[in-house]
This record gives sequence, C-alpha cells and structure tokens, in this order.
Amino acid sequence: MVEGGTRVAAGDLRGVVALDGPSGTGKSTVARRLAGLLGARYLDTGSMYRAVTLAVLRAGADPADEARVIPIAEAVDLRVGTDPAAPTVHIGDEDVAHEIRGGPVTRAVSAVSAIARVRELLVADQRAIIERELDRGAGIVVEGRDIGTVVAPGAALKIFLTASSDARARRRARQDTAEGRMSTVDEARRDVDRRDRLDSSRSASPLRAAEDAVAVDTTELDLMGVLDRLVAIVDERGLRGVAAGSDQNTLRAGW
Ligand code: C5P
Repeated sequence: MVEGGTRVAAGDLRGVVALDGPSGTGKSTVARRLAGLLGARYLDTGSMYRAVTLAVLRAGADPADEARVIPIAEAVDLRVGTDPAAPTVHIGDEDVAHEIRGGPVTRAVSAVSAIARVRELLVADQRAIIERELDRGAGIVVEGRDIGTVVAPGAALKIFLTASSDARARRRARQDTAEGRMSTVDEARRDVDRRDRLDSSRSASPLRAAEDAVAVDTTELDLMGVLDRLVAIVDERGLRGVAAGSDQNTLRAGW
C-alpha cells in the first residue's frame, strides 16, 4: 500500500526506473508520484520534446520541415528541473511549463519528435541529466516513449504502461479540463489516437515496449492502484537502499 503513513520497505530508489507508454495511461502523474514516494528525481522527457516544439512554432517554422527545425533544436536553451515536487521546464529564463501543454504544441509535437536529429540531441541531454543525478547518488524515474529502449536501456526497472483507448481518452479529457483547456472525450480520443499512431509508426525510436519491460495495464486501476503495483515491483527487485540512520519502514512524507 502507498497511502500516506502506510509502512513499506524503507529507503530511496537506486538507479533508473524507465516508464514508457502511450498518452493517457497516467504516465506523467504516476512517474512523478512514484519518484516522490521513492525519494528519487524525476525526468519528464515529453516536456523536452514539447519545449523544442514551442520554439519551432514561435519561429514560425513548419514542424515537419527538418531543415528549419534542426537548427532551432540545436540552438534552444532548454532547462529542465528534476524535483518531483516541482518539475520545471524553461527556455532560457522563461517558464514555459504551461504553454507547452496547450493545443498548438500538442498538435505539432509528434512531427518534431519524429526527426532523428532532434531525438539525438534530446537523448544526449536526457542521458546527461540522468548521469548527473546518478553521480550524486540519487535514483531517478524517467518517463517517455523510448526510455527503456534507447535512453536508458540498462535501467534497473522498465515499466510499460498501457490502458484501453476509452480509458486514455477519458483521462486525457479530464486532465485537460482540470488544467483549463476545454476538451470533450471524443476530441481527446482523436488526439490520443493520432499521436499514438504517429509516435508508434515513426522510424526514429518508435514507441514500443522494451523486451524486458514489465507491462502494467492501468485500465481498471486508479492512481493508488498503479502506484501500489509499481512500488511492489521496485521492492521485489530490491531497488531501494536502506535509508541512512533509519530502520523506519515509513514512506517519505510530502508527495
Ligand atoms: O509525454 P507527452 O505526451 O508530453 O509527450 C509529448 C510527445 O513527445 C509525444 O507525443 C511524442 O511525440 C514525444 N515524445 C517522444 N519521446 C519521448 C517522450 C515524448 O517522442 N521519450
């Protein structure tokens, strides 16, 4: 169980947990909460593709025009924070966290992320961020589409989240509405299906589960149910160190 105050095995995550899957599986919320629970850092790689896409749109470039997109991706000053309690995305000093979730970026991001050179640049950034956190002794939960297959193929644990198309559309519509973007379930379904088709069919690192990934179907599970499953898998694999100076089997507060 992962309810507040419930006792489970103590300690912080060691190494990398890769969390992949299509849109609407609850991946972002799950990854962030899991990182908080495990005392780990958190990296949302989708936010990086989204921020590059925002820079492309601001430059007035066609997101599918590689010759225009690549120099923009090479020049953009992207800064991502890895605190699961307050993940941040900046272009230079500008906080773009809200704008990258809007309709224009969401519609254009699959075209930008299909460009091999864009992926090469962002994968290098993602690996550098992961290395930096591991070097300072932290574990990290990394979410995206190609984390287990390309970014961190040596991850200690790879999870591939799935959910039925209906469940994903409903979740995405609810999330959009909660964040002030009006969206019906049908609109959300069209967007989720379109992006999955594009993300799964591109030639550069398409969305797919790593062979050694554990598939978790979230259709019938709520957030706590998913977190319970994942924490249980982390502990079955012994991926948590014992917290220094503590034999308390209490989950960390503050998530
Ligand atoms: O996860 P999120 O929906 O924010 O991702 C936005 C888009 O970024 C995806 O639809 C996909 O095109 C791209 N993406 C990717 N590889 C990743 C993460 C996201 O291609 N690792």
